[in-house]
Amino acid sequence: MISEKGTPPAIGKNIILFSLLAGGLIGAFFVFKLRMSKKRKSSERNLELLENLTKTAATTEHKGEILETILKAFMDTVEAKSGALLTIEDKTGDLILGAGVGVKPDLPADFGFNKDGSVFAEISRITRPVTGAEILQNSSYEDLLLFQEKPVSSSSLLLVPLTYKNRNVGVVVLSSKRIGRNYLREYRGILETLARQAAIIVANITYGRQVIIDGLTGLYVHWFFYQCLEKEISRAERQDLSLALLMLDLDHFKQFNDTYGHPMGDKALVKVAEVLKKDLRDIDTVARYGGEEFAIILPGVDEKLALRTAERIRKSMGNHRFKVVNGKFRLTLSVGISLYEKGTSAQEMVERADKALYWVKHHGRNQVRSWTSLYSGVIEG
Ligand code: GH3
Ligand code: MG
Ligand code: MG
Repeated sequence: MISEKGTPPAIGKNIILFSLLAGGLIGAFFVFKLRMSKKRKSSERNLELLENLTKTAATTEHKGEILETILKAFMDTVEAKSGALLTIEDKTGDLILGAGVGVKPDLPADFGFNKDGSVFAEISRITRPVTGAEILQNSSYEDLLLFQEKPVSSSSLLLVPLTYKNRNVGVVVLSSKRIGRNYLREYRGILETLARQAAIIVANITYGRQVIIDGLTGLYVHWFFYQCLEKEISRAERQDLSLALLMLDLDHFKQFNDTYGHPMGDKALVKVAEVLKKDLRDIDTVARYGGEEFAIILPGVDEKLALRTAERIRKSMGNHRFKVVNGKFRLTLSVGISLYEKGTSAQEMVERADKALYWVKHHGRNQVRSWTSLYSGVIEG
């Protein structure tokens, strides 16, 4: 039994030791948490930056600035002092310097690595972020020292490959004192996510707009629409915003094709895209979901506004006269709407809007319906 006079000295010492140890561990845990949260914030910010840049890259000519922004996003993420973004040139297939920070001042403007050289061969083999020490032979490592400030060692040089659809489109080379094998283990996931997004932008710049833009209508392609929807869902969740999705399908379009021919049908689809884009905001995303199906993402829009917007689009489509060989032709649209609710996935949003669209198709077409008004409260099955 512990005496009333006080804690026996042995126990007291243990308590002090234990408190110090626990305090130390708790302190270390909070420092770790703080670092992780800082890291998460900076990587989220950088990823969002690249996601927003993807759309800009498809519509602007500022190649140099875009590549520099990508490079800086990587540098910020790993706190690198120097970095270079090399891209594969479409015509020659060589790896050329697209953007550089802290690179040697005497580097020629058209600096690059020939596609038949050893550096190119070694870089092409990289499939995930690696340190210089892991992959490069000494000669190539020397060749890759593009920076004014020499890296402390080959393991403080980091290489991140940019791959789009199994195709190498470039590589990011970063130099940072903090980079090492353990460091890379911690950052690999973040770097791979950034690299995926960066690769889309670089592919867009290298191969042209067709990577994310539909060649016929100029609208975004299906997979990119999906990526945008996922991004908007996470934003809506984070910022507690509303979000609406419209799925649209032309009515009896097969008949239009059968009557006026496929080429005329193509022309009509181009016009439809114009009608859809008209009156929408910059932040809205219009995509060609399939043949004559379209999808529109409306961030920050609630059901009432979504219905109004869809109705406006439906009306302007119905009022538009498509010029055909022997006169004018009208086309109508059916629209299904779904709204983001806490926890709804992109796939669920698409399925719900599709279900509402299906309903319209079976109830006379040329109308707008929301999934909520038709099925909310009804057990799905
Ligand atoms: P519904 O009102 O039920 O939607 O009838 P629909 O005729 O529009 O639907 P259906 O799915 O039967 O046919 C879609 C048609 O869209 C068939 C196809 O020829 C046409 N289509 C799809 N993609 C293109 C395209 O790129 N160009 C042209 N000209 N036609 C296309
Ligand atoms: Mg149709
Ligand atoms: Mg269809």
